[in-house]
Amino acid sequence: MSNFRNFKMVDYVVYGRGSFNQLDEILTPHRKEGAPMVFLVDHHFENEDASATNSIVSRIPVRANDKVIFADVTYEPKTKQVDHLAQNLKEEFGTVSGVIGIGGGSTMDLAKAVSLMMNNPGSSADYQGWDLVKYPGVYKAGIPTLSGTGAEVSRTTVLTGPTKKLGMNSDFTPFNQIVLDPELAADVPVNQRFYTGMDCYIHCIESLQGTYLNEFSKSYGEKALELCREVFLTKETWDNENDDKLMMASYAGGMSIAYSQVGVAHAVSYGLSYLLGTKHGVGNCIVMNHLEEYYPEGVAEFKQMVKKNNIEIPTGICQGLSDEDFDKMIDVSMVMKPLWENALGKNWEQLITRQKLRDLYQKL
Ligand code: NAD
Ligand code: ZN
Repeated sequence: MSNFRNFKMVDYVVYGRGSFNQLDEILTPHRKEGAPMVFLVDHHFENEDASATNSIVSRIPVRANDKVIFADVTYEPKTKQVDHLAQNLKEEFGTVSGVIGIGGGSTMDLAKAVSLMMNNPGSSADYQGWDLVKYPGVYKAGIPTLSGTGAEVSRTTVLTGPTKKLGMNSDFTPFNQIVLDPELAADVPVNQRFYTGMDCYIHCIESLQGTYLNEFSKSYGEKALELCREVFLTKETWDNENDDKLMMASYAGGMSIAYSQVGVAHAVSYGLSYLLGTKHGVGNCIVMNHLEEYYPEGVAEFKQMVKKNNIEIPTGICQGLSDEDFDKMIDVSMVMKPLWENALGKNWEQLITRQKLRDLYQKL
């Protein structure tokens, strides 16, 4: 048994304002005769002004039979949605040269999962878990337009399936290429930017306070935390430099959890998302608001950030739920063993009982 995780990382990284314009050059060597590049683009950009100089869609390097698909990310990615996208591509083209995800965490996760499902049999639901994916996917690239999730660097793609919300965690999951161009995140609405930015902040707290922490995770986590503090606490107004920093915070936060894990906020927020469809960023914030017992300093600082940025965190979202609903959320949360172990240690099962979780959910 090996003790040290030997993890696969993203193959290529480009960072910088305007680096999106290099996409054509980057993709050319990966184009295969007759097989299109598929651009999976966050549906937000379907309505952007294509004549604007910074338009994203008009700058996508569409060649020959390439296909642009706008991904509906109203809800977080589902296994059914992934299966459907992959099936359609197989029927239309047989195979594709690559899948390029342009958007937030949802779109990037869809792109990773569709890439994998182009080469793996069955349903993506069969691969929700750790190291179940059998074959590498087609070439895949991730281009974030919203910073915080770390989905651009992670070895997972989080999907809601018929029985669970769980990622396809595998060495085949990381992107072959990522393009980090902070310009693409310029127009994110303030609330969304905060919620997704807090995903990164919470990754840092959960990683740095976790039992899995080592110097590798700590180095990235501390840097990401410092950047989050600069953008959400120090600066008076939002500017380009903040977008530059938050994009690197997301990357570093993701690198930090690559070698550790997330913790209580995520484990609990997965339950909300499964039952109520609460989105990841805001769900984490809703939970973090009540985690003083686990992360006292992190929660105090989180509240300071909420106040400074004039954000409202929803409350009362579990009001009126049935016993059955609470049980379902507790089930989904309890499946996240590595998260609980990271947060509370090897004897976590003694520390976090179903009743304790129920009390916590009732507060949200
Ligand atoms: P998101 O991708 O769900 O997008 C949120 C909203 O922002 C959407 O309405 C989208 O259209 C919009 N948007 C995106 N870019 C925009 C832009 N430039 N301007 C204006 N609007 C824009 O949000 P997210 O928080 O980035 O991602 C959440 C998802 O990521 C969840 O599904 C979660 O499970 C997943 N996630 C994955 C990982 C991983 O490691 N794979 C880690 C954390 C979260
Ligand atoms: Zn997260």
